[in-house]
Amino acid sequence: MIRKIPEPILNVIQALRKAGFEAFVVGGCVRDLLLEHAPKDWDITTNATPDQVLKIFPESFYENTFGTVGVKVPRFLETMPDYEYDIVEVTTYRTEGQYKDKRRPSEVNFTLSLKEDLARRDFTINAIAYGPTADEKWEVIDPYDGAKDLQKKIIRTVGEPEERFNEDALRLMRAVRLFAKLRDRTPPTVTSETKKTKLAHQWRIEENTEVAISKLSEHLKAVSPERIRDELSKIILSDSPSEGIAMLEKTGLLRFVLPELREGIGVTQNLHHIYTVWEHNLRALATCPSPKLETRLAALLHDVGKPRAKRGEGYYSTFYSHDHIGARLTEQMLTRLRFPKEIIRKSALLVDNHLFYYNVGEVTEASVRRLIKRVGLENMQDLMAVRIGDRLGSGVPKAKPYKLRHLEYMIEKVSHDPISAKMLAVNGHDLMNELRIPAGPKIGAIVEVLLAEVIENPELNTKEILLKRAQILQESDLQTLRELAREKIQEKKVAENDKIKKRHWVE
Ligand code: ATP
Ligand code: MG
Repeated sequence: MIRKIPEPILNVIQALRKAGFEAFVVGGCVRDLLLEHAPKDWDITTNATPDQVLKIFPESFYENTFGTVGVKVPRFLETMPDYEYDIVEVTTYRTEGQYKDKRRPSEVNFTLSLKEDLARRDFTINAIAYGPTADEKWEVIDPYDGAKDLQKKIIRTVGEPEERFNEDALRLMRAVRLFAKLRDRTPPTVTSETKKTKLAHQWRIEENTEVAISKLSEHLKAVSPERIRDELSKIILSDSPSEGIAMLEKTGLLRFVLPELREGIGVTQNLHHIYTVWEHNLRALATCPSPKLETRLAALLHDVGKPRAKRGEGYYSTFYSHDHIGARLTEQMLTRLRFPKEIIRKSALLVDNHLFYYNVGEVTEASVRRLIKRVGLENMQDLMAVRIGDRLGSGVPKAKPYKLRHLEYMIEKVSHDPISAKMLAVNGHDLMNELRIPAGPKIGAIVEVLLAEVIENPELNTKEILLKRAQILQESDLQTLRELAREKIQEKKVAENDKIKKRHWVE
């Protein structure tokens, strides 16, 4: 296993050893090494105090009160492309002091015992150290039988589960995050006997640990939205995101993470769907082909508005406007969890537009241009990914890839047509200079109307035609112009909407 340890990490450990200290790699990286996954970051634990570590590595950072020094090493990870160096976290052995409000400990107590340091870690599979012992021979130090749990695929707290979750409620989320991250991506479909037994069982949360999570789930209220968000993001980006969300629900945690998503539980749909809204949202996430957070979030939340939009029951129930209701809920949920503005905007945009209508031969180039205008060319790929999840997750195995491939072709085809103001043959300056229209919001409104008309008919995109048209438009007041632009983009949308409605009612 030692051969798998990158040179810069070995060097840090050797330097600490030479100075007379103990040093081990620990936590997630050892877990990943034993699982033969590639670790994504490396943590070192040592009995040297932060001051002593700083003396050995003078170019380090020590900016927190948790006993962790960031040691600069030559770059070896792919995760920080802009820097010449990587940071390896070197943490002094510690036990955790008093906990306040089920959050972080209010103080850190250093200890000289590795075993004590491992005892304060959350799960047995995260409480394994690996490094040189007294005779410089590298050994695995595993007092809580984490390796056994790794083999059995069990997530189990170090020590008494309730006690450990009581200390730090974030661990409730971390358990589910580990579960989602570690689950095998491929279901056990292998036929050969040996492989079958190997894949026969999946990762699970140990029973007492899971019972304690359910019992204490409400403690998640005490955890800051940012910390919940970070764990949720890791679940969404894991190989088994939908199993992760289902586990959040099973343990009661989802009530404090994405309560609105739960509204779809047990909500049946109409004749086009064999799954409830909840199941369908989860399946859309599972089958969404995008690796991006905002796109996966949109897949999970794309139908979140359906329960509130539902009218009628059974075969002919309808869900008008669930796309817009869902976009608002998406914004609300992600804002509450303090997601970055750009992620919120993008996820909501994708949810808002996930119903776009496309049928080969039936949809005009102009309507594809209008779709691009609404969504943005740069977001079309992600919108398709949400749609693919929506389709594959509907459980109706319709072969639709041809339709989407055709749409991709159409997008490519029209993407050089004028679909944004900067592609118009005139700009605001032309209007001011040539038509003497004074600077102000009216210019923008006229440009919007021109764009809407050119989207409909790209042949109008000549300077001469547009200036003539602008001349006429400037007679109207601002309000009228704005309405005109909106109508022109919306106008056809109404016709398109009718088709969408049809699809979601009776196809
Ligand atoms: P990842 O591979 O996603 O980084 P990780 O297990 O390394 O997973 P980190 O957040 O990097 O997770 O934490 C490193 C180690 O620190 C963990 O493996 C665990 O031993 C310990 N740890 C982290 N957070 C907690 C916590 N809230 N309570 C107890 N121990 C924790
Ligand atoms: Mg880690």
